[in-house]
Amino acid sequence: MTYENVKIHPAVDGGVKKGDPNFSGGTLSCRCATDKVEVKVGAQTAHNHVCGCTQCWKPEGAVFSQVAVVGRDKVEVTKNGHKLKVVDPSKTIQRYACTGCGAHMYGRIENKDHPFYGLDFVHTELSPESGWSEPQFAAFVSSVIEAGVDPSRMEGIRGRLRELGLEPYDCLSPPLMDAIATHVAKRSGALPA
Ligand SMILES: [Zn+2]
Ligand SMILES: [Zn+2]
Repeated sequence: MTYENVKIHPAVDGGVKKGDPNFSGGTLSCRCATDKVEVKVGAQTAHNHVCGCTQCWKPEGAVFSQVAVVGRDKVEVTKNGHKLKVVDPSKTIQRYACTGCGAHMYGRIENKDHPFYGLDFVHTELSPESGWSEPQFAAFVSSVIEAGVDPSRMEGIRGRLRELGLEPYDCLSPPLMDAIATHVAKRSGALPA
């Protein structure tokens, strides 16, 4: 039994390509034909994963997005920043999208109490460079149904994710869920700060 015909995201459909541990960053460009927005990312990314939530930007036709994090001090808009607009200012993650092509160039958390404050969310497929950290798991898998995927396809989707070595979770991965819970416990006093 193989699920190789099940499409997840173009970056992983042909197999997950390992990142280069010596890679130190690159430039993301939006999908506009001219006057592209450019964002310089000055470091390797971490926690790269495919995500099934309905908020992350996905390339045309993809069921999942691919999204990673990097320190916000490493993210700099270098060209055509005037084209960027926050998709939904009411959300925890302020996703800066190009008003021309719709690509999300980076997502930023402004709430200093949030467990992931200090990290920006980026889609490294928008960069021509190779060597970015590879996706390591699949988050919010059940949420693809909210975007219109028929529930009968979930067995194939989870099967394909496992085949690719991307363990499917219906929230974030256990280490990230533990990090969030630890942050909450330290704030409440349940754990020493
Ligand atoms: Zn654009
Ligand atoms: Zn997502």
